[in-house]
Amino acid sequence: MKTAETISEIRAQVRALKKSGKKVAFVPTMGALHGGHLSLVKMAHEFADAIVVSIYVNPEQFAPHEDFGTYPRTIEADLELCKKENVDVVFMPDTETMYGLDKKYFSIEIEELNTHLDGGSRSGYFQGIALVVNKLFNIVEPDIAVFGQKDYQQYRIIEQMVKEFNHDIELLMAPVGRADDGLALSSRNVYLSKEERSIAPKLYQALTYVEQQIKNGVKQPKLLLQHQQEELEAKGFKNDYLSVYSLDTLQPVEQLSPGNKYVLAIAAYLGKTRLIDNLIFEI
Ligand code: AMP
Repeated sequence: MKTAETISEIRAQVRALKKSGKKVAFVPTMGALHGGHLSLVKMAHEFADAIVVSIYVNPEQFAPHEDFGTYPRTIEADLELCKKENVDVVFMPDTETMYGLDKKYFSIEIEELNTHLDGGSRSGYFQGIALVVNKLFNIVEPDIAVFGQKDYQQYRIIEQMVKEFNHDIELLMAPVGRADDGLALSSRNVYLSKEERSIAPKLYQALTYVEQQIKNGVKQPKLLLQHQQEELEAKGFKNDYLSVYSLDTLQPVEQLSPGNKYVLAIAAYLGKTRLIDNLIFEI
């Protein structure tokens, strides 16, 4: 397995892979790798011949009060895991490499796809992600890029960005990787105390309960969602959002109708840890 820290190194390595006829898949991450990330690498292997993983904690997607400084950084273990998963190249740029030192004149704005879910709660978050992913796509120039359903809004925004900015990249979405008790795997789960960790799976349980009720015929889920939020608050969660959104437009939906696809998404704090999860379904 190779590593690259500079743009010229990663470009040379990807070029060599492509020249030898290999289809290159790219898995961007912020490191602190877990089974969820590795499922993306496994999916990448199914569709490509060579895998590039990037590990970069992107300061542009953290608000000043968020956890940029304390975000888990486990580079040695990450490299071991990548090696085990037969990753070809790990790109590990620093911030000077990614952003340079000069004054910036450009930013990426995102319209309606950014008004709800995490976009509504975390100001500047998806602008920071769109910026770094756009740059990474231009640097790596992969044939395929793999993202996780765990961050469905991120996937949808990048899907739209690829279309509107004409990136010649095929996107794949991997299902949410979960612990045995249902909790969505996340680098931030290490922040949870033992007690918090034991109640964290209630989030996924709430989602599956709501999904079941919808499958049983509920078409206006507002009260059902309110009730689940109250139950979670009683168990110690501080809710941010729990709603059903159109899978395509990411706008909240109050009246579900047959033949449409939806994402049921939740974000809640447990102590200081922000957890997110979602289920995608069609009725
Ligand atoms: P991150 O390192 O959190 O920026 O995540 C990097 C990529 O891994 C993103 O595409 C995430 O959606 C994906 N990812 C993170 N956690 C999971 C998970 N539990 N299941 C599937 N994909 C995940």
